[in-house]
Amino acid sequence: MRDPRSVPRQQVTGHLDNRVSVLAAGLTNVRRRLAAACQAAGRSPDEVTLVAVTKTYPAADALRLVDLGVTDLGENRDQEAAAKASELAAAGAAATWHYVGRLQRNKCRSVVGYADVVHSVDSVRLAEALAGAAQRGRSVPLDVLVQLSIDGDLQRGGALPGDGGEPDVRLDRVLAAVAGAATLRLRGIMAVAPLGWDAREAFTRVAEAAARVRREYPQAQWVSAGMSNDLEVAIECGSTHVRVGNALLGKRAASPVA
Ligand SMILES: *Cc1c(COP(=O)(O)O)cnc(C)c1O
Repeated sequence: MRDPRSVPRQQVTGHLDNRVSVLAAGLTNVRRRLAAACQAAGRSPDEVTLVAVTKTYPAADALRLVDLGVTDLGENRDQEAAAKASELAAAGAAATWHYVGRLQRNKCRSVVGYADVVHSVDSVRLAEALAGAAQRGRSVPLDVLVQLSIDGDLQRGGALPGDGGEPDVRLDRVLAAVAGAATLRLRGIMAVAPLGWDAREAFTRVAEAAARVRREYPQAQWVSAGMSNDLEVAIECGSTHVRVGNALLGKRAASPVA
């Protein structure tokens, strides 16, 4: 029988090095795109945070990205996020964790345990559940972005601007619920461009909503918008946080957004 330890060491590290260089190339490419987009928009690259969305990829990849200098990681499912965050913490890797996916109220308790920022608060009830969980489960306030629905399709998440519809999912009410919770810190808004929409049209609406939100809540300066395919347009429209998965890590086998 072959002793598994007899696998030549070079072969093993060669494989790891290969993945690191794939990720490094992805990161270089995304950073170039960000720099070019900022320059074209007359903005400083310091104004834009790159959130590497590692969903479906192993903790080892998240760790490699942190080693390459990525500071912010994003996930969209609680179970996967919790496991990855604890693996990275055990490895001594410091990262700011962003929860970017649909969030159910029964997951709030878990999410407040590892997340630094939640991007996807889209109802008053969810804001209240998160505030309660944060009260019990953490010592510092949780940064929160309220998710805006651009097309009004509530199935895909997001609160509705304007004064029609269910009060629970009205943007102004959700903003007020977050801003009024001592354990949450309202930082701004988040949006996903709806499938089939022109990105510029979508992110122009986000920019308009962000301007209104900032007038009422001066502390809410962040705009989380832009992913692998549309980050340039998002930056042109004022995004401060781009959430990038595929362009850094490669195409996911299945890639549901949220
Ligand atoms: C998966 C995901 C992303 C990243 O999308 P890419 O197209 O892989 O860059 C961003 N935001 C949310 C909410 C996601 O679920």
